[in-house]
Amino acid sequence: MNAVKSLQGQICYHFGEGSAEGGLAHRDVLGSRGAYLAELAATGLAIPTGFTISVEACRTIAGGKIQPSIKSAISDAVKTLGETAGVGFGDEQKPLFLSVRPSAAIGATGVMEAVLNIGFNDKTVEALVRSANDPRFAYECYRRFIQNYSHVVLGDDPAAFDDIVLLYREERNLVSEQEFTTSDARELIARFKAQVASTGEPFPQDVSVQLHAAIAALVKAWSAPRAKAHRKLHNVPELAGIAITVQTMVFGNRAEESGAGTATSRDTATGQAGLFGTYMQAAQGPDLLAKIDAASGIASLMQQSKTIALELQSALEATEKHFRDCMELDFTVDAGKLWYLDAKPAPRSTRAGLKLAVEMADAGTITRSEALLRIDPMSLSHMLHATIDPGTKRHVVASGLAASPGAATGTIVFDIEEARRRASAGESVILVRTETLPEDIRALHVVEGVLTTRGGMTSHAAVIARGMGKPCVAGAGTLRIDQGEETLSAPNLTLQKGEIITIDGSSGQIMRGAVPTVKPSVSGDFATLLTWADAVRRMKVRANAETPQEVKIARDFGAEGIGLCRTEHMFFEGDRIIAMREMILADREKDRRAALAKILPVLRADFVALFEIMAGKPITLRLLDPPLHEFLPEGGGDLEEVAKALGTGVTTLRKRVDELSEQNPMLGHRGVRLLLSYPEITDMQARAIFEAAADVVKAQGDAPHLEIMVPLVVSRRELDLVKARIETVAAEVERETNVKLSFQVGTMIELPRAALQAGEIARSAEFFSFGTNDLTQTAFGISRDDSARFIGEYTSKGIFTRDPFVTLDIEGVGELISIAVQRGRKTRKDIILGICGEHGGDPDSIAFCEEKGLDYVSCSPFRVPIARLAAAQAALLKK
Ligand code: PEP
Ligand code: MG
Repeated sequence: MNAVKSLQGQICYHFGEGSAEGGLAHRDVLGSRGAYLAELAATGLAIPTGFTISVEACRTIAGGKIQPSIKSAISDAVKTLGETAGVGFGDEQKPLFLSVRPSAAIGATGVMEAVLNIGFNDKTVEALVRSANDPRFAYECYRRFIQNYSHVVLGDDPAAFDDIVLLYREERNLVSEQEFTTSDARELIARFKAQVASTGEPFPQDVSVQLHAAIAALVKAWSAPRAKAHRKLHNVPELAGIAITVQTMVFGNRAEESGAGTATSRDTATGQAGLFGTYMQAAQGPDLLAKIDAASGIASLMQQSKTIALELQSALEATEKHFRDCMELDFTVDAGKLWYLDAKPAPRSTRAGLKLAVEMADAGTITRSEALLRIDPMSLSHMLHATIDPGTKRHVVASGLAASPGAATGTIVFDIEEARRRASAGESVILVRTETLPEDIRALHVVEGVLTTRGGMTSHAAVIARGMGKPCVAGAGTLRIDQGEETLSAPNLTLQKGEIITIDGSSGQIMRGAVPTVKPSVSGDFATLLTWADAVRRMKVRANAETPQEVKIARDFGAEGIGLCRTEHMFFEGDRIIAMREMILADREKDRRAALAKILPVLRADFVALFEIMAGKPITLRLLDPPLHEFLPEGGGDLEEVAKALGTGVTTLRKRVDELSEQNPMLGHRGVRLLLSYPEITDMQARAIFEAAADVVKAQGDAPHLEIMVPLVVSRRELDLVKARIETVAAEVERETNVKLSFQVGTMIELPRAALQAGEIARSAEFFSFGTNDLTQTAFGISRDDSARFIGEYTSKGIFTRDPFVTLDIEGVGELISIAVQRGRKTRKDIILGICGEHGGDPDSIAFCEEKGLDYVSCSPFRVPIARLAAAQAALLKK
């Protein structure tokens, strides 16, 4: 790269002809385009000479006025441009023509427009007519410039000019513009100028006025709402600013061996090396965007000139070496000469990015650490789920939150039982619900995907779907479900039960009908990169999983243990729910124990399966967390059915449902509070765990590494009471089985008071697991199930920069974690610390966990590869 030396506070920085002031290291001064052009110039590639007006200087132009000192610097720089070629800006014999383009300091500009062909006026056009010996081309350039100028600088509608041309052709009966004579071309220019004058000032003939206006317009466009929205979308900070590049024109729209294109040294879908891109003969750069259908592959350049195509290919290979990355080059062929107009790292698919990173690291071009840092961990989710075929047109009927990645197609079904029935008959089903309830898990296992009209990123549906790797779109607020009619309505559309829809949990889109999807594939490069990640990360990665199927997926994706087994999910499977309901309905402890005894053997079998799959790895088993109400039916026909199954009356059942219902169940009788009220639940769960462990020890000899976790604790005393019961049961099972059990008891830190009391709680807790879903909910006082309705407004108003249920709120929730880490460690130096909220799979939150020295992060099985890479990146960046 060009030597990193600081630039001298100039207004304009020159580039071209094998040299440049500055390079890639000076993006803050030159903007991205300016910096890449400077770097390209220094490599000796042919770029039209030019200069960059610095970010600093452009800041002073933001209001639209250019100060005299800046004008004079620009004028000096323009003079230098023409010197070598013996041309002058505005010269009526040997005119110089310029292009002006935006150059954002960070990322994409959000300001797409360039102004080309600056310097054309009634006099200079005639000079080009003479020198180029091609009147049609010269007049076309002038005409394009008037249209371009009026659009970008004056804000007029470019379509008005297209209409003028069409009308003129109709008047003269001309089939195409090829038939224009010199007088046609002049007449059209006159009409174009009249069009400009009709909306305000006449079109300027003074070339300096043209140039200054173009520069000011592009700088101003940086502050326009469209550009701001674009930057927001791409997380580009407002302060980054914009520079402007001014370059001598090269013309791709000549008749002879000319054209414009974009090329890369790799297939950006697969990463395969070669020559790829688009090319359009007799065109200027913007034509590629405007007439995308007319642009064809690089093969058409091959046809036009093999020599130029080969020259382009070797330039691409050289730039890949120089920039140590696959670059995308914008180029123009002007009368058989190849010019490079811009370079930027080629946008690529995840698969291509992985291939490139691994190949370059293997070749020693970049280090393995660089390879790791080049991949966006979140992009890996594309490798793990089916995706919508990129070549397919999407007819989107509504959108919601992209709650769990992947695409799924199936019939709309609103009812759990029907979903189960249809799915077991082999039908692909999309379960459509207002929001899901814990008992819906029975259907979630078997459906293809889930769509809810309410709920946020950490709503039940979203969390469960992510855990299972099922596509989920949540909180699609514009959709309405009519349970009675069994319809789903979007604005202007009503879908019936049984109709086919496709949901894309990666974008949040909902489409009518079946949309072709592409199956996931984990390539060798993917696996290689993850192995490199494992070698550098410090934190372990565990998974939140409970069913054998999920636990296997987690292990295969590289999970080093289970960080959260939500045991309540095990109560919903098959007939267990009946015994659970019996337990809830029972008035006496004796009857409750009898009901729980029915669940014990099935739970024990589940644990055995889990311990076997995760043999030798730590497993955190959380005792029952949700309020009992969630295990009971909602009402209507369900009540009758359940009452029958339980051998009780509907009235009795309804009474119990009413008794258990709470105003605010999330803050009600749940977690440790429930375990204290019904200690027999703890006893049964502990027994199932310990008996399963004893079974596994007897069968395999290897004791599972158990961590028993108590949820929703706010004081040490709560934990102590539950811990005492766990220890009692352990002693009983040891006696009964003759197996020495080893386990640890710890707690979730998921309430602010628990975080503050961490020092005290750590006297009894051997580990902490940060339950950041509840911790976020309670720190903010925002319901995790209702936040989707208004969080968008909070982010759009800049109150929150990110959804705190997705990316950890460092200032608030992060502070509580810091306090808990510090106080917990002070009491117990070797306390095990982890995170098991949804944030455990979010790269930025993972970086925070590394910062705080947590021992592990735990996330949904399908996020494990993402977390492995993110933890590696966090470790590398901390060094
Ligand atoms: C949490 O609160 O962060 C957590 C992991 O528990 P749950 O999501 O089950 O409430
Ligand atoms: Mg919780």
